[in-house]
Amino acid sequence: MNPVTVVGPGTVVTSYDQEPTVVVNGAVAIEEDRIIGVGTFEDLGAAHPRAELLDAHGGLILPGLVNLHHHFYSALARGLDPGTPMHDFGEILEGLWWRLDRALDAETVRLSAALSLADCIRWGCTTVFDHHASPSCLKGSLEMMAEVVQEAGLSAVLCYEISDRNGHNEALAGLQENLLFAENHREAPRLRGLVGLHASFTVSDATLEQVARQRPVDLGIHIHLAEDQLDTRLSQERYGQPPLDRLDHFGLLDCRSLLAHGVHLDSHDVSRIAESGAILIHNLESNNNNAVGRLDLEATLSLGCTVGLGTDGMSSRMLGSLRAAFLGVRAGTGDPTSGFDTVSGLLQANSRRAAQVFDEPLLGRLVEGAPADVIVIDPPAPTPVTPANTLGHLLYGASESVVRHTIARGRVLLKDFRHTTLDVGEVADQARAATPELWNRFRSLDT
Ligand SMILES: [Zn+2]
Repeated sequence: MNPVTVVGPGTVVTSYDQEPTVVVNGAVAIEEDRIIGVGTFEDLGAAHPRAELLDAHGGLILPGLVNLHHHFYSALARGLDPGTPMHDFGEILEGLWWRLDRALDAETVRLSAALSLADCIRWGCTTVFDHHASPSCLKGSLEMMAEVVQEAGLSAVLCYEISDRNGHNEALAGLQENLLFAENHREAPRLRGLVGLHASFTVSDATLEQVARQRPVDLGIHIHLAEDQLDTRLSQERYGQPPLDRLDHFGLLDCRSLLAHGVHLDSHDVSRIAESGAILIHNLESNNNNAVGRLDLEATLSLGCTVGLGTDGMSSRMLGSLRAAFLGVRAGTGDPTSGFDTVSGLLQANSRRAAQVFDEPLLGRLVEGAPADVIVIDPPAPTPVTPANTLGHLLYGASESVVRHTIARGRVLLKDFRHTTLDVGEVADQARAATPELWNRFRSLDT
């Protein structure tokens, strides 16, 4: 048995940088969890004559995608009628998400994770940052999800969203869940933890104080920030400060912070985030769905703020999220020449953040020595691919195409469109069987 696999032939795009290296008729050679060569199919074939071939059928060969903000727990909400008015963001949280998360039990937490992870694999995501809540099944929930992540074969950064919305004791339990998980996986190659916080307006000063006191300095936070004006208004009303000031006040704004949304920040706030080195995570499809407004991506980037991309539980399709961000810029500016420059660094920012968290500087690049996170898009690009036009291919082609192969750290998770690690049919059967009871529990809960 030969441990080397050659993925090719196809058009290799080595990174999501603005001008990546492109190898036409190219291939990637993988040994165990590392890339050991990138070049022409012919050259790699000659260098590894006994290698196993994973046929790319001429498709685009890209680095595995990174999702910086997901909610696996939302997977079983599809088709659920909350049976209550949801006229604004507060009513959406109270009527839908805060009831659904309380209704989750161990089985539905596991199933939600498996469903979301299967979608991640199907859309070529190999590293995912999840933000979890299941108050009725809090203790040990991250480890439970980690088991599913390991079975699925992805790399994941997990956290539990600390909140005082169900009382201070539960907030403290959430903190302990984060700290324990992060400590247990401090040096794990494929799993890491962060300190998850719901959003400023549901986290008390006493809780933030505990987070600040107990958080190891190298452990970043992952929080919803100014997703809706509600966050700013209630933070001010309840705690006397707007959201970003509160994070800053408690020393929680730093280069390891992940800040989801940032729709309602002023330029002063954005500049402070830029100075801190934190990353703002854009989730336009979700923002549109909740009608909370839209981040001014151009202005945010022009202030030097690093911006990455997530899906916020709306989907697991990162190239769709990129395309939505692009179209959002055009819709916002009314300028059909805008957008390319604005979104060109988003996926790269995601890769860099994942590289930082996993201490893997080459993560997100198809270069020798990098973790073997590789995807193949089908069908082949119908027009020439050059270093200067790869973004056009992602926005207008790859984002509308399917993924043929997903390889994460050398393990083939999707082979010729078929899952190898998860039985998606069985997971869906189990989910459909478990959902009626979940929805009954949901309906029995007050908003
Ligand atoms: Zn979110």
